[in-house]
Amino acid sequence: MTTVIDALVRPEIQAIPAYRVAAADGMIKLDAMENPYGWPDELKAEWLETLRGLDLNRYPDPNGEALHTALRETMGIGPEFELLLGNGSDELIQMLAMTVGGPGRRLLSLDPGFVMYRQIAQCAGMEYVGVPLRADFAIDLPAVLAAIERERPALIFLAYPNNPTGNRFDSEDMVRIIEAAPGLVVVDEAYAPFTDTSFLGLLGDWPNLLVMRTVSKMGLAGLRLGYLVGPRDWLSQIDKTRLPYNINVLTQVSAVFALRHKALFDAQTRAIREERARLFAALATLDGLHPYPSEANFILVRTPRGRAGGLFSALCERGVLVKNLDGSDPALADCLRITVGTPEENAVLVDALRSALCASG
Ligand SMILES: *Cc1c(COP(=O)(O)O)cnc(C)c1O
Repeated sequence: MTTVIDALVRPEIQAIPAYRVAAADGMIKLDAMENPYGWPDELKAEWLETLRGLDLNRYPDPNGEALHTALRETMGIGPEFELLLGNGSDELIQMLAMTVGGPGRRLLSLDPGFVMYRQIAQCAGMEYVGVPLRADFAIDLPAVLAAIERERPALIFLAYPNNPTGNRFDSEDMVRIIEAAPGLVVVDEAYAPFTDTSFLGLLGDWPNLLVMRTVSKMGLAGLRLGYLVGPRDWLSQIDKTRLPYNINVLTQVSAVFALRHKALFDAQTRAIREERARLFAALATLDGLHPYPSEANFILVRTPRGRAGGLFSALCERGVLVKNLDGSDPALADCLRITVGTPEENAVLVDALRSALCASG
């Protein structure tokens, strides 16, 4: 049996590790950049009432027209641009790779960066080119321009702000990359609710610029809904790789409902930004910890040399789940990534970190 598997499974699939999600039952979950706040009871009741009218025996609206309209209105997307919906922005990354991928085609991004760019490139049969960031996690512009010249990537992803480092790249550097790129440049704005600038307003300035967003980090991770915005001629091609009915009935209706109550999410993401500042200050006071400034809803923290694994386990024992990034990239040695939770959750985290740091390590 193994020989059949070895013989048939594409070598590039055999080579990639499975994407694992940690078990989190009953834990304070600070590992996945989720919004920790729920909805008020009345809103929940109103939402459930809208679901009552749905017919699950019918396929969803294939184009998600009502959802398109709601997204255009709430996100200020003009009629001159096309909009494409994905089952999470992860699916949009996959559609982009399928559209321009193929033997010899390259996908370029910056490391450390979002792991799905590499994973999806490899699944789609593309070659992944990762250009290291500088030590302060800024773009190494000469290195990126040289890599573009050398590799001629069909597709470039720039996460703005970046995951897992949390910083926002210099927009002038990004523009230089867009202008030098021979192919598409996708600015991934998954963390748009937590920062003040965006490339959405620059769409159309370059024919190869697309902006990708998601409702996940804003507070709707369970819906799985991402969207891609850009020039119609590009998006109509990418749309051909989309599976029919990729956005299910429950997601379409729930997202339209949620976007009508966008003010609630804006208030929640504002609170998370304020809490991010408080958490950063608290982490900075802990002996030996170095938190990096963040424009997202998480904070990357460098721990004392060799301590990340032990601290991660000690936090687990106290019921707090964070992400241990030690070993995932040379630039992330000794690093933990901590999602900003509620004030109460963050207090438990800081307390647990303080006592774990004091314990002999
Ligand atoms: C979380 C994240 C995504 C994935 O978002 P989904 O819409 O939940 O698939 C995309 N890009 C970056 C940079 C992220 O951190």
